[in-house]
Amino acid sequence: MKINLAKSAGFCFGVKKAITTALETAKSEKSVFMLGDIVHNEEVVRQIRETGIKKIRRLSSGECKTLLIRAHGCSRHTLEQALKLGYRIIDATCPMVKEIHKIARKLENQDYRIIIIGDKRHDEVMGIVGQLKSKAMVIDKLQNMPLGKIKKIAKAGIVVQSTQNLDNVLAILELLRKYIPKIAFHNTICNPTRIKQNEAKAMPLENSVMIIIGSKTSANTKRIYEISKSLNPNSYWVNSAKEIKKSWLDNAKSVGITAGASTPESSIKDVIAKIKTICPA
Ligand code: SF4
Repeated sequence: MKINLAKSAGFCFGVKKAITTALETAKSEKSVFMLGDIVHNEEVVRQIRETGIKKIRRLSSGECKTLLIRAHGCSRHTLEQALKLGYRIIDATCPMVKEIHKIARKLENQDYRIIIIGDKRHDEVMGIVGQLKSKAMVIDKLQNMPLGKIKKIAKAGIVVQSTQNLDNVLAILELLRKYIPKIAFHNTICNPTRIKQNEAKAMPLENSVMIIIGSKTSANTKRIYEISKSLNPNSYWVNSAKEIKKSWLDNAKSVGITAGASTPESSIKDVIAKIKTICPA
């Protein structure tokens, strides 16, 4: 049986950068804190915890402490509060996320009502919302569009959570265009996500089975899985090699493997090794 690994499987450059920054900071600083997990992956979180970086829920006195801003970014309020409390700031926000912040602020300054296409509760989206003076509207899917409010908007500036599914975004955009006379749309889905999603559209058609590796808390892994599953029912989402079942691979001619942006290489290697054990060449 053939194993085909997606070229884009695993860490994107933003996650790599955030992890490198965290590891360097843990070496050079004594008391390092983070508001939440560095990325959505249990194995990476464990490694970061072992370096001594502590996860906190809220800020306290920041004297002699360093606050590491995660790849997803944070709100302006959090940053201002941290500085006021005396924290030293190390910013590991992905540059693509910072670009979304910049675009959203610029549109707001041009009097556009900001609409973010993304998941309301995702850290990245909360960070974008927190860049703005006015209240942004967040839309995650067609079924949840507040049409009454949308019809009252004359001018909308639209940005997108970096890991959104392009097809979902375009469907929402089409409906928004029907109701809002003036729209400035910025497709801020990041390049690594686009590449991953394109592969996730091609590989399920070329392989008998698809294995998607990533944490169940990872939004981008979830979207890759959803795309894959819609094209090939033999698509399986696992967090580790242990979850792979022999029956999935019965009679499979080839298995395609891909992994979310926060999935470490070790998890990918383990999955490949497990498949080779189940189906020796
Ligand atoms: S998925 Fe995109 S936006 Fe998110 S960290 Fe990776 S490169 Fe940055």
